[in-house]
Amino acid sequence: MDKTESLVRMDAEDTFKFNCMPGVSCFTQCCQDVTIILTPYDVMRLKNSLKMSSDEFLDEYTLIFTSKDKLIPLVMLKMNEDDKKCPFVSEDGCHIYNDRPWPCRMFPLDINDDGTFRYITDKSRCKGLSENISWRISDWLVEQGIPIYEEVNALFSEVINPLRAQSLDIDNPKIYKMVFMALYNLDKFREFVFNSSFLSKFEVDPVIIEKIKRNDLDLLKFSFDWIKFGILGQKTFQVKPEAVPKDNSLKDN
Ligand code: SF4
Ligand code: SF4
Repeated sequence: MDKTESLVRMDAEDTFKFNCMPGVSCFTQCCQDVTIILTPYDVMRLKNSLKMSSDEFLDEYTLIFTSKDKLIPLVMLKMNEDDKKCPFVSEDGCHIYNDRPWPCRMFPLDINDDGTFRYITDKSRCKGLSENISWRISDWLVEQGIPIYEEVNALFSEVINPLRAQSLDIDNPKIYKMVFMALYNLDKFREFVFNSSFLSKFEVDPVIIEKIKRNDLDLLKFSFDWIKFGILGQKTFQVKPEAVPKDNSLKDN
């Protein structure tokens, strides 16, 4: 079943026709003036793809929107000021294609809240939708490398969904900075873990310590657990007996 109306809801077993390639008349036009919200995993993939530090990437390529009543800031990919194009697009296409953010992988589809799919563009703008290559959506998602994004973003949701559900009464700016660092600035978070009293305060399996030293994805998963412990009060960390704190929250770190 092919469905082309933008409001139609499709499920993973539905098919759609699409092919994007150099030569199509709209090639790269969808890579300008777009709002792309980056998850922590997107930022991790992008800064590593560009061989930049987290700080450098965040400074150069993102806009960060903070709000006093939201602990998790909104991090957006910054379009060029002059031509409004994505900084990573060229005539040949996306030059960070293997590490492009989640929304770029999903295009021309998006996911509804109920897990169904919809078009976010139409044939007049995206000529690829008039091509005669048919995709089952579930196969398309795999082809686009979506599963690892789904897996890590599901872990991220375990952090942000409870925060959305409860009203926050946090007035310590250090906590906002700590949460931002743990999620989006992994290089700084690694420095914090290894160059502060962190490891003398908390029980951390030596195997995990070795993993987070070297692997950003392991470190990101570790950071999710850290926020669950410090902000959500979940028992994801254990304090060492010799380091009994006055208060188990992030406030002391
Ligand atoms: S608008 Fe569609 S066909 Fe054109 S470049 Fe973007 S994804 Fe490809
Ligand atoms: S990251 Fe790549 S695919 Fe996404 S908008 Fe930029 S150039 Fe296009």
